[in-house]
Amino acid sequence: MGRFLFHGRKLISRAFSTLNGNPLHVCVVGSGPAGFYTAEKMLKAHEGAEVDIIDRLPTPFGLVRSGVAPDHPETKIVVNQFSRVAAHDRCAFFGNVSFGTNVSLSDLRKTYDVVVLAYGAESDRSLSVPGEELKGIHSAREFVWWYNGHPDYCEMAPDLKSTDTAVVLGQGNVALDVARILLRPTTELETTDIADYALQSLRESNIRKVYLVGRRGPVQAACTAKELREILGTRNLRVHIQEADLATSPADEEELKNNRIQRRVYELFSKAANTIQEYDDNDQRNLHCVFFRKPDKFLPSELGYSVSGVRLEKTHLKENGVSRKQVAVGTGDFEDLKCGLVLKSIGYKSVPVDGLPFDKRKGIVPNERGRVLSSDETENATREQGLYVAGWLKRGPTGIIATNLYCAEETVSTILEDVRNGLLTSVSGSHKAGRQGLLQILQDKNVQFVPFSGWERIDAKERMLGELKNKPREKITTWNELLSVAEG
Ligand code: NAP
Repeated sequence: MGRFLFHGRKLISRAFSTLNGNPLHVCVVGSGPAGFYTAEKMLKAHEGAEVDIIDRLPTPFGLVRSGVAPDHPETKIVVNQFSRVAAHDRCAFFGNVSFGTNVSLSDLRKTYDVVVLAYGAESDRSLSVPGEELKGIHSAREFVWWYNGHPDYCEMAPDLKSTDTAVVLGQGNVALDVARILLRPTTELETTDIADYALQSLRESNIRKVYLVGRRGPVQAACTAKELREILGTRNLRVHIQEADLATSPADEEELKNNRIQRRVYELFSKAANTIQEYDDNDQRNLHCVFFRKPDKFLPSELGYSVSGVRLEKTHLKENGVSRKQVAVGTGDFEDLKCGLVLKSIGYKSVPVDGLPFDKRKGIVPNERGRVLSSDETENATREQGLYVAGWLKRGPTGIIATNLYCAEETVSTILEDVRNGLLTSVSGSHKAGRQGLLQILQDKNVQFVPFSGWERIDAKERMLGELKNKPREKITTWNELLSVAEG
């Protein structure tokens, strides 16, 4: 058996260069931050690990490419580190391979000693209020994928022309991102990697008012201070906050005392409410921060198919007996807010594939430090051999990119613990085919995968197109063009 040494946070395998002379075949599903950090830690920690990363898109990097706002280029620098991981001689990238369609969970478990699911949260929580299907209502994720040039949403074309008012539901950092993109002068977006069609649409946008609606108060807003400061400081933006919403209860004071982030966020809202802002009357934009309101229903336009407003129920806060958190409770008092665009920013949701245990309530795969469990009922749960999770699928859709580093580290240390304890099949003699097996499956199913060199061709072309417009890159946004450029 191998001996493992912990050096600070580093886990190093000395004797496990291979599993009984064979490589440890590892497949990571999803090439976002959780997937790449897992691959990186796995390659470092285990000399015999051969790591394949599959992704349904022809492009790698998940949320860093499709989720991070275009005006946050510093957050995207991490792709340089991920590219070095992909270039490692024991690592391979397989883009354009859809997990659940082209390859099943059972295919991967038969082929690899270790399968780590890190495919994140590609769907949205639902509000479940009447009228949610009306035209003009989108999830923030869809809107983000649209302006970031995700090939599934390049034709979404949200209507930014027929209305001057948008309502963003939720007050987390994603809500702030979408509100900022709607309100920021487009001259400041021209030199970002925003999709060309989105920039054009924002230039023609008539939206001048954005309501950022939270069901709780300014003390509980889910955003962080840096992101809030950024939007409040947007050029030519007038911020509206009702003085009365800033009043705090003893329970609020307790929360503020115990949480530095909440304190800073609350201070920023208070400061903005009391600051007279300078703005240019010509193209003034307005941000209304609305608190203590929860959506009750969406109102249809006269013709009945598009949204014309949101009915909000006023709320007050009440301590929940179990979590001891202050939760929003409806007061039975309603008001209507007119608008022509709604972006629901109430959180992302992970979607299970066939055969994967899933805790529907929490929206995660039941796991113990990344090791997948057969059920979310702890008493009856057994370990799913060789199956692990990392990232949002493991802990829910929260945290910044760096959170995934610690999350991946934990999953990798669990995997190594299982290797050491002889819990993976290869130890008991049956050798898995690993990469060769995957190649065979893809060939049998006639799947044209995109290797990392294919992505490098896309990357080079995007950079070249971007250079002509003084942008870091001009994203290629259709499936056809991505695949044809990748092929060379
Ligand atoms: P989030 O931080 O969880 O915020 C969700 C928001 O939706 C909260 O305001 C929540 O209010 C509200 N909400 C949830 N269910 C609701 C309902 N039924 N009705 C009304 N409101 C509801 O999620 P997120 O904004 O999608 O962000 C996801 C993660 O990515 C976060 O950890 C975020 O910090 C991170 N992120 C970071 C950055 C950055 O660092 N720049 C950028 C984007 C995202 P309650 O608080 O009352 O539940």
